[in-house]
Formats: sequence, structure tokens, C-alpha cells
Amino acid sequence: MQLSKRIVGIEPSATLALNAKAQQLRDEGKDIISLALGEPDFATPAHVCEAAKTAIDEGFTHYTAVGGIMPLRQAASQYFAKNYQTRCSGKNIIVGNGGKQNLYNLLQCLLNKGDEVLVPSPYWVSYPTMIELAGGVPVFLSTEPEQGFLLEVEQLAEKIGAKTKVLILNTPSNPTGSLYTQEQLEHLIRFAVSKGVFVLVDEIYDQLVYPPAKPVSAARLWNEFPEQIAIVNGLAKSFAMTGWRVGYTLASENLIAAMTKLQSQSTANICSIAQKAALAALSGSWNEVDLMRSAFQKRRDFAFEIVQKWQGVVCKKPQGAFYLFPKVSDLYGGEITTSTAMCDYLLNEAGVAVVAGAAFGDDRCFRISYALDDKTLALALERIGAALVKLCR
Ligand code: PLP
Repeated sequence: MQLSKRIVGIEPSATLALNAKAQQLRDEGKDIISLALGEPDFATPAHVCEAAKTAIDEGFTHYTAVGGIMPLRQAASQYFAKNYQTRCSGKNIIVGNGGKQNLYNLLQCLLNKGDEVLVPSPYWVSYPTMIELAGGVPVFLSTEPEQGFLLEVEQLAEKIGAKTKVLILNTPSNPTGSLYTQEQLEHLIRFAVSKGVFVLVDEIYDQLVYPPAKPVSAARLWNEFPEQIAIVNGLAKSFAMTGWRVGYTLASENLIAAMTKLQSQSTANICSIAQKAALAALSGSWNEVDLMRSAFQKRRDFAFEIVQKWQGVVCKKPQGAFYLFPKVSDLYGGEITTSTAMCDYLLNEAGVAVVAGAAFGDDRCFRISYALDDKTLALALERIGAALVKLCR
């Protein structure tokens, strides 16, 4: 049997691979702490779980409409309307299998072979592969740690060409935690749209923004450009629902219809039970979202205080998500000349798993996830700090 060139040509997700390596070391009896996973460590709120149990008890266990049940699509549209004054309806929403499937399907619906997609780097691991699987070509725009990893309009002006079809923006960002202000985001989008570029905005972390910073969304601009903007969001990060696989897209009815057609021929609807749980989440109490945000903010402050003191390391205070992305390349030397070598060193020397920046397109950095309990986080950071000190000359 010969696998297709398409599948042979792609790499598995680096974050998942690293966790497997950490697990292997644990199985060998080593004391390993993982700061590698991108998911909240909190339980899914009880009322959401209850809604799923009720769905089972009531026999809501069959196929649903491909793009999701209408009450859920309406609840998602109301999320945008309430928080960002978007004028949209359930018809502008499709529900897919996590933010991930929404992003994948969007790119499948938007790209022809050879179309270029502008991707600010560092970027979320899956964008380049998703673009390639849709026949597109990723074009990276590098951003700097010293500037908080924010893209400038001038960079867009330089890179937009005849083949540019899509710009992907992700705010707050995985892996950097950086956040555009509403003005910065709108400035970038307006420029791209004025050049005929479609803008796809990944807002999966929009609820994890830490005061005094304010939530930011392209949905505020969507009323003006419904045919040129799509926004992906979901419940994985805000409601600690990573395993339920519920994400959604806000887009024009045309684009939603195209995505629905694709989904109808591939995965069809997402789990019916998860849809009921998601409806309970979006339309019920948000108290626990607020509590989780406060807990993450405390951890962000705690972790940042420590990381910014590490010698030879550059890290600006991130405003959202649950990651720090310190630049450590000034400590490279000897056998450590890449972010992968640095992460191997930290795994062996400190017993801590962090993800190499190379996976996100920036070999100068590594990603720390602070989505774990305070005590373990403190211990892990202490161990990394001690290992990094040994590299200072
Ligand atoms: N976009 C970004 C930036 C992410 O970090 C993730 C998950 O880690 C996703 C999308 C996908 O989220 P989901 O679990 O909803 O598929």
C-alpha cells in the first residue's frame, strides 16, 4: 500500500508529539511536568454537563442538520450580536467539529491551487498545513518579540500581491498571547479588504483577555464587510470544553452554504449531545467563564513575573490566551542552537516539557502554557529558570 503524497507530505501536530515524548519519559519513571498542552485544566461547568445528560435521557442522539441545530446557530449569532454589536442571524453561523474543522473547511472553501495566504508568524501550528491541504501557499510575515508580536500594516502592504487571497489573523494569539487593540485589528482588516484580500480571524481565545485589556473582535467590522470577513470561535477554551469539539464560524450566507456542503460530504453534523451542551453554555450562566478568566489572569501575572527576570530572555507581557512565548535565542550556544534543542535540554535537565518555537515558525522562542495548577506551575518555572541559568555565560 502506498500512502498519498498529500498525507506523506504533512507532519503530525508538534504539540501532541511533544506530549507523547513527555509521557514516555514519565513511563520510564522520570518526574516530568508538562507545560505543553493548550487546554484549560478546569472542569467543564456542571450545567453544561447536565444539559448533555438530559439530551441523552431525552433520546437526542440522532443525526441533526449538518450545520448544527438552529437554536445553537442562533445562540452563536447572539453571542456576536450581544458582545460585538454584529447584525447577523443563525443563517450566518455553521457549527463544526471544534474551531479546527471550521478553519480547515473555510480554507477548503476559499482557496484554489496556488492561492497565497498571508500568515503572521509565530502562528498556530495547524495553519500552514491546512493551507497546503487546500492547495494554497502560506506566506509568512514575521513579527518581533520586542514589538509584542504585532503585525504592522506596512508588512501587509509589502506582501500583498496578485496571488494573495486570504489573510489569517489570530487574536489573542496562540502561541504568543499577544492581542491587537480594536483599532489595530480594524486598521489591518480595512487595509487587507481594500486590497481585495479575504480576512479570516481566529478568535478562539476572545474570552481570555485580561483587564485592563478589553476583548477585541473583527465581528464589530463584519457588518461593513460581511462578504470579506469570516470569524472562527468555539467553546473549547472559554468553557473548558476541548473534548466536546464545538466550534463555529460567522460568515456570509454564501460562504456558510459552501461550508455546509463540504461538511455534508465529510463529517456531517457534530455530535448531537455536544450541541445541546454548547447551547446550554452559550445561553446559560457565564459565571464560570469569568472565574476561569480570573484564575488565568493570576497565573499569567505570576508566571510573567518570573519569566521576565530570567537573564538573557525577552518576554513582553501577553494580554490574552494562556501562553508565554519567551525569546531565548540569546542563550543558544554549544549544542543548543535551535528551539528544538533547547526544549530537549529543558526536558532532560529540568524535567519540564515546553513546545519549541520552531513548531510555530519562530526558532528563537519556546511556548509555555500556564493552564495548570499554581503549585505545579511554580515548580516547573523554578526548574526551567535553574536550567537556563546554567546556559548564561
Ligand atoms: N485556533 C487556535 C489558535 C488554537 O489554539 C486552537 C486550539 O488549540 C484552535 C484554533 C482549535 O480549537 P478547537 O479545540 O476548538 O478545535
